[in-house]
Amino acid sequence: MSHEVMEQAKPLSWPPVTESSALSAVPSAARDAVLKFYFGPMDCGKSTLALQMNYNHGRQGRRGLVLTKHDRSGGPKVTSRIGLGLEAIEVDDSLDLVRLVTATRDRIDYLICDEACFYTVEQIEQLADLVDEHGVDVYAFGLASDFRSVMFPAAQRLFELADEVCRLQVEVLCWCGRPGQLNARVVGGAMVRTGEQVMIGDTDASLVRYQVLCRRHHRAGRLGEGSAQQAV
Ligand SMILES: [Zn+2]
Repeated sequence: MSHEVMEQAKPLSWPPVTESSALSAVPSAARDAVLKFYFGPMDCGKSTLALQMNYNHGRQGRRGLVLTKHDRSGGPKVTSRIGLGLEAIEVDDSLDLVRLVTATRDRIDYLICDEACFYTVEQIEQLADLVDEHGVDVYAFGLASDFRSVMFPAAQRLFELADEVCRLQVEVLCWCGRPGQLNARVVGGAMVRTGEQVMIGDTDASLVRYQVLCRRHHRAGRLGEGSAQQAV
């Protein structure tokens, strides 16, 4: 049987399934854009993955924007602890992300949103609008929970809305050797459980630092041996 005949025969031999059947062929052009959220404690490689993903998409000829908020560099950049870095758009609370993308002269295919836990909930809604109404793929990266192990509002909204949520676990260990899951805020050498939800630490001049602990030791408030010497 020639190819041509097969092509023509197809509709006749196709089972008369309903349009909504999972078996019905979906045109590839109908692929929906996606909203994905990658989360994990600090040092788990979120920013590194964000930069890698931007590089990969760029190589495929896709156009994207890289956004961040409160990056560790203190500037509008995505930087990773292993030394990679890229200029980025700083997201302040008043920035309308839909307007940002639609006002860009070139068609934008995807967004890389680093530190998305610090965005406003409204901005997470805007990301979903970009996916659903503008066909933009959104890859968001960030912490899930704060130093009290309470979810950031933006992270919670991402959990609720994302097509896919992925926990990143890249060899971040608690002092006890268990996987690190939660960030503890350490002020003057002691773990604290009250205070502002967002407080940027870990810079040289800061009295505040963060330490990754397993759930058990976060709940028990144990920073481990030798942490008194590490503390500022
Ligand atoms: Zn532990």
